[in-house]
Amino acid sequence: MIARWSAELESDTSPPSRGWTDLPCPLCSGWESDPVREVAETHPEGRSPRQFLIVRCRTCGHRYLNPRPLTDAWLPISTDRREPEPDRTARSTIGSSIAAIAEPRVLSFDSACGIWLREVLPPLAKLDVRTAAVRPGHYDLAIDWYRLERHEEPAEELRLAYRALAPGGALLLAATLPQGWGEGHFGSAWVGDDAPGRISHFAASHLAMAVQAAGLRFERATVLGQPALWQASAERCLGWKRLWRYCWLAAMASWLARQFHSAEGMLLLARKPG
Ligand SMILES: [Zn+2]
Repeated sequence: MIARWSAELESDTSPPSRGWTDLPCPLCSGWESDPVREVAETHPEGRSPRQFLIVRCRTCGHRYLNPRPLTDAWLPISTDRREPEPDRTARSTIGSSIAAIAEPRVLSFDSACGIWLREVLPPLAKLDVRTAAVRPGHYDLAIDWYRLERHEEPAEELRLAYRALAPGGALLLAATLPQGWGEGHFGSAWVGDDAPGRISHFAASHLAMAVQAAGLRFERATVLGQPALWQASAERCLGWKRLWRYCWLAAMASWLARQFHSAEGMLLLARKPG
């Protein structure tokens, strides 16, 4: 498989802005990897979907998309995907992480979270959305909501979170988990792959190691459901798998996956030592 991809890369005579690029592991910068599986482009926008490859880093075991397209239209941080809103677990974790602070200062790494964050945060909270200049050592809570997996340099994003947090401040990370029931059930129809926008396929252990490498103290991780992924994947299927497009069936499947530790997402809480 690697040989075929290499041949495609070598035979790609298109201008650099429309070609493919081979990139190192986003976590450890290692170049050696082994193929895991092929995934089809999730949103091909009318053309036939391109095929991508998820590989496993030989150095640290992290799974990521490689090689990746270098098109003018492709953005490392996709702006067209609606991330899932937080469920009860996530809302409770956000609330409890700043419960003792009267006027918490909160940083969101994504402007799209602003609407639901306003509902979750206490009325006196001051919410900033990440801009080019983040105030160092200022925030009681930083929220990275399904963004880190779409970042070309997640370690850099985590270092930025570390710098932005005040001592004792919390980082809340939401990420899509690989190898859950949904992914196994739907195979190539699974929209959770979200190729090529989702670059990293974090295992919980890799995410915990990454936050600790950035200087943060890992506190806990819990599973998160994403019934919308079941519904959207079912819409792409024929036959009985289309049943999961019904809201209550998707919610049931996602709930069962969580009970058996095969959920679609995870929520990780880390803290800057104070
Ligand atoms: Zn690696």
